[in-house]
Formats: sequence, C-alpha cells, structure tokens
Amino acid sequence: MPTLITPISGWGRYPVQSCELERPERYADFKADAPSLIVRGQGRSYGDASLNENGRVLLSERVNRMLELDVEQGILRAEAGVTLAEILEVIVGKGWFLPVTPGTKFVSLGGCVAADVHGKNHHHEGSFGDHVLSLAMILADGSRMNCSATENAAVFWATVGGMGLTGIIGEVTLKLVPIQTSQMMVRHHAAINLEQLFKLLQAPTLDDRYSVAWIDSLATGRNLGRGVAMFGHHATTAELGNSKPNPHKPARSRNLPFDLPAFALNPLSIGAFNALYYHKEGGKQDPFLSGYDPYFYPLDAIGQWNRLYGKRGFVQYQCVIPEHGAHEGMAALLHELSASRRPSFLAVLKRFGAQGRGMLSFPTAGYTLALDLPIRDSGLFALLAKLDGIVLQHGGRVYLAKDARLSAESFRSMYPRYEEWLKIKSSIDPDNRFSSSLSRRLNMGRPA
Ligand SMILES: Cc1cc2nc3c(=O)[nH]c(=O)nc-3n(C[C@H](O)[C@H](O)[C@H](O)COP(=O)(O)OP(=O)(O)OC[C@H]3O[C@@H](n4cnc5c(N)ncnc54)[C@H](O)[C@@H]3O)c2cc1C
Repeated sequence: MPTLITPISGWGRYPVQSCELERPERYADFKADAPSLIVRGQGRSYGDASLNENGRVLLSERVNRMLELDVEQGILRAEAGVTLAEILEVIVGKGWFLPVTPGTKFVSLGGCVAADVHGKNHHHEGSFGDHVLSLAMILADGSRMNCSATENAAVFWATVGGMGLTGIIGEVTLKLVPIQTSQMMVRHHAAINLEQLFKLLQAPTLDDRYSVAWIDSLATGRNLGRGVAMFGHHATTAELGNSKPNPHKPARSRNLPFDLPAFALNPLSIGAFNALYYHKEGGKQDPFLSGYDPYFYPLDAIGQWNRLYGKRGFVQYQCVIPEHGAHEGMAALLHELSASRRPSFLAVLKRFGAQGRGMLSFPTAGYTLALDLPIRDSGLFALLAKLDGIVLQHGGRVYLAKDARLSAESFRSMYPRYEEWLKIKSSIDPDNRFSSSLSRRLNMGRPA
C-alpha cells in the first residue's frame, strides 16, 4: 500500500513530527505489518498520541461505514473511522443520541474508545467505554479478536483508554440513549469564586444530566475561580411546547483562515472577553432551549480554531483531582496560573463520577480542570511541570489524550494500573509494535 512521509501534529499543533502515513480503504486492508505503527482517527487529540515519529501512522478516515443500526434497541455497529458528526446526522432524527460525547463531534469512534472520552454527563453516566457493547480488533500478529466486558474482557479494558497501543480497533458496537427532541434545556448560574462554583456543581437541587463550569482564569484574590456553572438535559416534547426549532439543521462552520499573531491572545484581550462572558452567560438563570450543536460543540462553529493560538501551537493541560482534595488542589493550580500571567483562553471545570474500568482511563471520582495555554516560550513547560507537582500531591492525574509533555516518571505515579495494563499489552503485542510518540515519551509498552 502506498505511504507518504509528511509532518503532522495533533490538534494543539505541537509537536510537529514526520510520520509515514498510510490510508487503508477498508477494514480488511488494515495490517499490523510495520515494526512500529499507530492508528490515527481525526487527529483531535491535542499532543502526540496519534503521532509516530519516523514510524507508520494508519489513517482510519476511509474506514467509515455504518454497518447496522437497530432503531428499536438503539444499537449501532460501525467501523472505527466513522465520526460522531456522521453518527449524529443519522441517529438524532430517529430519536437517539450518543451516550457520551466530548466537546467536539469531529472525532472518530476509534478515538473515543482509545481515549475512553468523557462528556458533561460523566458524573451520572461514566465514560465512552461504559457504553461500548463490543469491539472487533486486529492484533499485532495479524489475528482478529472480538472483545467486550464479557468476552476477552482484559483486552477490552486495556483497549478502552489504551491510546491505540493494544491493537487496531476496527469496529465498535455502541449502545445509544433515547431522546424525545433534538433540543437541550439549559440553565446557567454565576459564581463569584471557586468555592461557590464547587457548591453549585455539588448542589442536588441544581444537578442535571449534564453539567460543566466555565472559569475566568484571570480572576484573582477573592474572585479566584469565579465562573459560570451550566446545567442541561435533552428537552422533552412537553418542554419544547409550541416552539418549533429546526432540529437537524447543522450549525454553520466558518474556518479561521490564518494563524493569529501570538500576541493577539494576551491578558488584556482575554480579560475583556472573560468579563463580558461572565456577565452575559452568568445572567441566564431562567431555563432556555438550545440546539444540541451549540450546546455540546460550541467550538466546532469555528473550523480550525486551533490557529487562534499562533504558529507555535498550544497545549491543553487537563487534570483530575480526587474529590477530597479537589477544591484545595484546583485553587492551587489557579493561583499558579494567574501568578504566571499566562492567560488561558479556555478554562473548564467538571465534576467526574466513579473511576472507569479502563485500566488507563483518565476519569476518577473528583473534579477535572482543562486549560488551553499558547506556547510562547519554554517557560510554559516549566509552569506545567509545577502544575504536575500539585496534581500529584493531590493524588490526581493528567489526561493522555491532551498531553504533549508529561514525564514518564509522573505518568507512572499518576496511573497506578499501568503494570496491570502492561501485562495485557505484552501478552498480545510482545514486540511493542503498536507504539506512538506518546508511548515512547512516557516509556509505555515495555517493562521499565
Ligand atoms: C475541541 C475539542 C474538545 C474536546 N473535548 C473533549 C472532552 O470533552 N472529553 C474528552 O474526553 N476528550 C475531549 N477531546 C479530546 C478528543 O475527544 C480525544 O482526543 C479523541 O481521542 C480524539 O479522537 P480522534 O478520532 O481525533 O483520535 P486521534 O486524535 O486521531 O487519536 C487519539 C488516540 O486514539 C487512538 N485511535 C484512534 N483511532 C483508533 C483505532 N481505530 N484503533 C486504535 N486506536 C485508535 C490513537 O492511536 C490515539 O492514541 C476534545 C478535543 C477537541 C479538539
């Protein structure tokens, strides 16, 4: 099959590495026949998870057929290269929705399984892998294997969250959730500081199927961590009443046509945006209807918004801190960030439910914070190493699907089930054929 050597990156545009790309047309064409290979879905992981410097990268984008949809039971079987956007086009009109969705729909099914992605409903419904009924895989020796929570369960839970390192995910069977309408019923509540924000996210009277909070990362002092908590659920037909929004009209997406100069996002411009956003969104206490697109995927409305951060790219730092130390830990992280005067254009706080069953799954009961930080100089990496220290001190971890710079040592301390995962990985891929730039950086896949 023809290959092409070309520089590619993840969504954060850092790092950029030369990889040998191969684009199979069919699932049957996927072969584990290179000494080092990794599958790439839509390349929406931020760092180096879907990169393989000087090695093979199998693109799954053409392996994107929907194979079976049971509209009575809400069960979908599809090839792993199908995107969530393509699935939504088909299922929403039939009264079904994705059980879990990340903040962009331009991701592949395989990518969602491999990163065991979470959504705004993690505190109620867990992560993506909890809703996967089975996987069809190609292993390093070329053999095929079906796996699920009951069949070859160890391989299944090593693959869910396993960042593509156990084998090629070829097909995914997914349980969908029923919806009455395509609209969301949403409420916003403003909080003047982090303490209030935590209270809002924990309040049983406000809780809803989906919840998330936006944080003004530049607020300091008594206002440190001020933000807006946002709650929502799929609107019922009764809630929709007489309003007749067009349910299936996809949001128009405009591409950012050029890289913004690095200085465009600075404490002044972000501070002004944050003040405006806080007052506008925080004021929406009465429930209101929103289409599912702007509700779940607001950033998808601007194609290539990653160019906002300039040519050097950016890092998304996402961590989770277990419940008991979460408030103190998050406050410490926000202190460091605001003291550094490195503005984060996006800062999102979210409550997680119980730890998932994937051996390397990121979510654990507690709170997760995600920050987008432009790369201006190497000082950023020193700051992020400091943040790792705070996260470790509070028993937390960093999300591999967003990572581009964590150390192997910190990774081992953050993911206590790594050795268990490694045993399974070594049993089905003894030569560590499935490897990526991320796995080499974190020294994953071989005994230390
Ligand atoms: C705007 C934005 C918002 C996001 N919001 C969230 C969020 O709310 N929650 C969340 O959890 N994540 C979120 N993400 C991260 C994203 O959901 C994950 O990184 C996801 O894995 C990307 O899917 P992809 O198809 O682009 O995979 P890629 O980035 O191409 O690959 C990611 C990993 O999956 C593996 N992989 C992909 N396909 C296969 C396959 N067929 N077989 C084996 N391995 C495979 C790759 O090897 C790699 O390790 C967000 C990303 C963006 C850009």
